[in-house]
Amino acid sequence: MNLIEQVYCRVYQFAFKVAIPVLPYRNPEILNAVDRIPQVLKKKEICSVLLVTDQSIRSLGLTQHLEEILKENGFALAVYDGVEANPTVKQVEEARKLYLENDCQALIGFGGGSSIDCAKAVGVLIARPEKNLEQLGGILKVHKKTPLLFAIPTTAGTGSETTVASVIVDPETEHKYAIMDFPLIPDYAVLDPETTRTLPKSITAGTGMDALTHAVEAYIGNSTTKQTRRESLRAVRIIFHNLEKAYEDGNNLKARRNMLRAAYLAGCAFTVSYVGYVHAVAHALGGKYNLPHGQTCATMLPYVLEAYGAKIYPQLKALSIAAGLCEMETDEALAARTFIKAVKDLNRKLGIPEKVKELKQEDIPALAKTAAKEGNPVYPVPVLMDAKALKRFFYDVMA
Ligand SMILES: [Zn+2]
Repeated sequence: MNLIEQVYCRVYQFAFKVAIPVLPYRNPEILNAVDRIPQVLKKKEICSVLLVTDQSIRSLGLTQHLEEILKENGFALAVYDGVEANPTVKQVEEARKLYLENDCQALIGFGGGSSIDCAKAVGVLIARPEKNLEQLGGILKVHKKTPLLFAIPTTAGTGSETTVASVIVDPETEHKYAIMDFPLIPDYAVLDPETTRTLPKSITAGTGMDALTHAVEAYIGNSTTKQTRRESLRAVRIIFHNLEKAYEDGNNLKARRNMLRAAYLAGCAFTVSYVGYVHAVAHALGGKYNLPHGQTCATMLPYVLEAYGAKIYPQLKALSIAAGLCEMETDEALAARTFIKAVKDLNRKLGIPEKVKELKQEDIPALAKTAAKEGNPVYPVPVLMDAKALKRFFYDVMA
């Protein structure tokens, strides 16, 4: 990247970094079990709620307990279970209709990132009925209080229960956009391991590694705060001690609970401190070949860490210590290499591929451009790279 572009990126990132203390970031309050929800609703004098979820989650019976306890406690409950991967404008509209018809006063997003994103978007339309979703896309366009929102993640990874964003797709225009504003941060994150018990092994692996990538990218970037550094280190420690256990035995509820906590902490960290080129590259690959996000991040992570080189040795040493891989006395370069190797080993144990077999060489120039467009100037990465430099990562993972 040339010097002028570098200066532009760094000035842009610096402006966002100095704004962190004055922006209304907040971490959602944690509830440790779904059973806690009725109590909160009573306290807030709410009597009618809309549950937003998807059909497979509901048919697996995951929402059953929540539906029962809400009804037993006398709450009126409407259910929208039409969310699909990448919630569409139509799905959000359908859910909003149910919310209004049933005079709902609060929202519960129950599922992976998509259900939670859909619930957030319903809240946006309730707060801003005079606008459509497309008009509210982008940064800080909502700025009005949205209804009370509980986020119940069923995968421990995306961090959607903590973030300011909701990603919506308009299939008619093929437009995918994010609505990003502080009122979208859920009020409560319900971290109940029972909701992740039936998660298939490959999803436990991919989403768990997504959480690790969030923590690592937030930590090695230039926009960290004391709090986000602490959250990232805690998340990394928990993931290295629990992900394999949750993967090997899905019924290990202690490991499942710990992974939910790690994903939450990593989500809080990257909401403030951003991600980096692992995500930019993984999003480009995922968009082109429809690949699972977490798995693609996991595949890319060691390559990108290696490419950053000595610039991030101190950070990788701290992460290495947090993961229990080395000591304070360990040489910095050795600690960094140990961390990268441990990520590769973890990938192998979790059945995550080292290469992206779908990737075609002729697609690389366009993919690198897409990745550069996402990453620059927003992501405060430790080493800046333009599209030309980012190409290397695609060659790295070519089968
Ligand atoms: Zn991610």
